[in-house]
Amino acid sequence: MDGVDVLVIGAGLVGCAAACRLVQAGARVEILEAARPNAGASGANAGSLHFQLERRFLENGEALADQAASILGLNLLAIEEWRGLADELGPDIRVHMRGGLMVAETADEVAILERKVAREVQGGLASRMIDGDAARALAPGLSETVVAASHLEAEGHADPKALTLAFAAAAAARGVRLRRRCRVVAARPVRGGYRLTVETPDGPEDLTAPKILIAAGAWSARIGELFNLHLPLYPVALLMSATERTAPLLDPLIQHVGQRLSMKQAHAGNVLIGGGWPSRMRLDAAGRFDLDRPAEMLASSLRGNLAVAARVFPRVAELNLIRSWTGITAITADQLPLVGAIPQAPGVFVAAGGSAFTLGPTFARLLARRILDEPEERLEIFSPARFGHLNSFMGAAGA
Ligand SMILES: Cc1cc2nc3c(=O)[nH]c(=O)nc-3n(C[C@H](O)[C@H](O)[C@H](O)COP(=O)(O)OP(=O)(O)OC[C@H]3O[C@@H](n4cnc5c(N)ncnc54)[C@H](O)[C@@H]3O)c2cc1C
Repeated sequence: MDGVDVLVIGAGLVGCAAACRLVQAGARVEILEAARPNAGASGANAGSLHFQLERRFLENGEALADQAASILGLNLLAIEEWRGLADELGPDIRVHMRGGLMVAETADEVAILERKVAREVQGGLASRMIDGDAARALAPGLSETVVAASHLEAEGHADPKALTLAFAAAAAARGVRLRRRCRVVAARPVRGGYRLTVETPDGPEDLTAPKILIAAGAWSARIGELFNLHLPLYPVALLMSATERTAPLLDPLIQHVGQRLSMKQAHAGNVLIGGGWPSRMRLDAAGRFDLDRPAEMLASSLRGNLAVAARVFPRVAELNLIRSWTGITAITADQLPLVGAIPQAPGVFVAAGGSAFTLGPTFARLLARRILDEPEERLEIFSPARFGHLNSFMGAAGA
């Protein structure tokens, strides 16, 4: 072995945060990054801290919504994690946890919200139903079409790019080497661990370590293939837009239970508008989804996203849009994150999928314990073992 305990693949938020927690616990860690920190979803996301059950969990029927509610335990841990991050990492990460509203405009949407809040309260989250006027008191300027909202005081937003860099800096301060332009292209088991082959500007290189963490976001399934594993993570391309800066206009995070919408005013004054409107993935020369090129923006998504934003919060329509962009993230078959040890490849771990801006720091803290063989039950429901059947005929030979 090369004197490193854990090789982390990917320098997005998850890889940098995990490296930080691992080195704090005494492990020797190196991060291998194909491009640069924040090259993936961590540099493109909306920065929402959404601890209420997300709309995507609610729009596919009650059975999936019930299953998705199992994420609430992690959301509760994430609230505590985020409360400590500004103190730990400094003010640049711009943590703003002053409340979030998920709004409803129709009676059907109110009914969905009520069921959602009931699930959340049962799961220990302090969300509550409020009427339209109470929502407008918390977010003056919210449209009269809003008839009710669920409110959670702990929600909010932070600066996504700054967070990744803050974790990377904290890890570096403890000796973690982050290798940019260092793409993992092959993996094979060797005695006592794994050998990874990386492509660097200076040519290929082999690196070995007893343990590997796949933290490669939407690329994680491709990394899984290097280990002869199926990781059921699917890339999805989403749209984001930002307005020009303006004076303080919107304090809470706004989401919509019946429409795709997330909206917040970032620290610099820009209003960020997103909420999961799709973009179209490009294809590479081999006809596969091209994860290295930005997805194509869809005019219908842009129009739809801005229309909902303007209807729910009309004053946003007075602002100039300065930028729209797409980003690629990963979802799993059951929408829950994939975090933990991979049974078919001892010593290989994965952390990907889900809303990993909100949850990434918590994945990192818990998974670091798991990687270092400390007892950690709280990740069990996110374990790759739940998709073990996909790898019944696969699997890296034991290390
Ligand atoms: C538009 C958009 C909006 C979003 N909004 C929110 C939000 O508001 N709140 C929220 O909680 N979540 C949000 N998300 C999801 C969130 O951004 C992601 O879950 C999170 O950033 C994932 O971080 P990551 O570190 O796992 O992956 P990434 O940030 O994608 O990092 C993966 C890294 O792996 C590297 N890599 C890939 N292949 C290799 C290789 N072979 N060798 C070495 N390195 C490699 C990549 O270059 C990349 O830097 C959003 C996502 C998008 C796209």
